Amino acid sequence: MIELWAVGGYSECGSKNMTAIKVDNEVIILDMGYNVGRIVEYEGEEGEELTKLPYEKMLKIDAIPNDTQFHKEWGDMVKAIVIGHAHIDHCGAVRLLAPRYKKAPIIGTPFTLEVVKNTFEGKKIPNKIIPLNPSSKYKVSDNITIELVNMTHSTPQTSAVAIHTPYGKIVYANDFKLDDHPLIGRKPDYKRLKEISKDCIALISDTTRVELSGHTPSEMLAREMLNDVLMRYLHRDMGIIVTTFSSHIARLSTLINIAKKMGRKPIFVGRSLTNYLQAAKRAHIFSTDAEAFGYKRDVNKALRMANKDKDKYFIICTGNQGEPNAVLSRIANDETPYHLSNDDIVIFSCTVIPTPTSEANRKIIETKLLEKNVRIFKDIHVSGHASREDQKEFLQILKPKHYFPTHGGIEKQAAAAKIAESIGYKLNENIHILQDGQKMVIIE
Ligand SMILES: [Zn+2]
Repeated sequence: MIELWAVGGYSECGSKNMTAIKVDNEVIILDMGYNVGRIVEYEGEEGEELTKLPYEKMLKIDAIPNDTQFHKEWGDMVKAIVIGHAHIDHCGAVRLLAPRYKKAPIIGTPFTLEVVKNTFEGKKIPNKIIPLNPSSKYKVSDNITIELVNMTHSTPQTSAVAIHTPYGKIVYANDFKLDDHPLIGRKPDYKRLKEISKDCIALISDTTRVELSGHTPSEMLAREMLNDVLMRYLHRDMGIIVTTFSSHIARLSTLINIAKKMGRKPIFVGRSLTNYLQAAKRAHIFSTDAEAFGYKRDVNKALRMANKDKDKYFIICTGNQGEPNAVLSRIANDETPYHLSNDDIVIFSCTVIPTPTSEANRKIIETKLLEKNVRIFKDIHVSGHASREDQKEFLQILKPKHYFPTHGGIEKQAAAAKIAESIGYKLNENIHILQDGQKMVIIE
């Protein structure tokens, strides 16, 4: 018997991803993520940092998946926790939830697990940690093997997780894009996905950008877009600041290269940037001689230095969503020794995450930057998520018997269902739209 429990991630976008698959009497947990919206919104009592709050408090403010009922019913059967990639809406809650299933090892690629380890901030991790390279397998029990199939997304070493069972294979590709020219790592392992299609019982996959038509462009295009904008300012002496997602190592690598081509010194400023760069170095996938400054005192020192010789530096900083405490907001508020002036350049190499908080925060920061007559460039970015035609192609490659669109909320799930219907799937027969907390039997 195979059952699926949609613990979290099915009712809103970018929030509390956690799915469990029960194969007879053994359970595999896939992802344990934060509610990113809550993380950005939350301003704790007396300035407490959200990432330091205990389980009960995080549950109360809806920042982590609610696993209470799941823990009661299936908790004793959990054999492994598999984390598909390093974004916090997929791995942020591991530090709070995994210790509740401490007999189960945590499995993921080396980079993902380095990011997970960082979230424990030096505390002992009670679970065993099992790093698996992309495109490799681990036998969890006589009946279950976990395989990490190489996939592309906006953070390195993202995997589609294939759970091998006596009934066939279940694939969890949450999140993914089909990038045939990724700048770090390899393209999706199409050959392996085709092999898996021979007995693919179910696919659980993300619908984040399902409303976009066509194909999501490769990261190679983001590199060209950044080159196109920035090289116009070669030999000019204005300040240059770029902000992007800290977990996007390929993008950070592109920015270092452009900075060097422009004859400027790249510096990374902000805590989460230093954390992700450190994880990439430890996982041996990327390292740089560019300096990174995480703590507030170091940040100010670096920015003071850059302010003196604006034409010699290329600042890559946190704050792409206008988060009030991030470096870019502090610069815009004149709370750092770096002072913006006419003609300085600020590039947002990202999109605005469509939540009311991010939209409001970005509006605030953009207004402040415009008041300073700064040159702003927005959306110099390509998405990390599959568009409509990629979604269709992925279903055609894997041919799952059952399809569970996730990571979207009902509108995106419904749009994904329409795509599946266009190639012969049927809603409520083999397309299943679940909400957080729901369970379903896939095979009796
Ligand atoms: Zn992601």
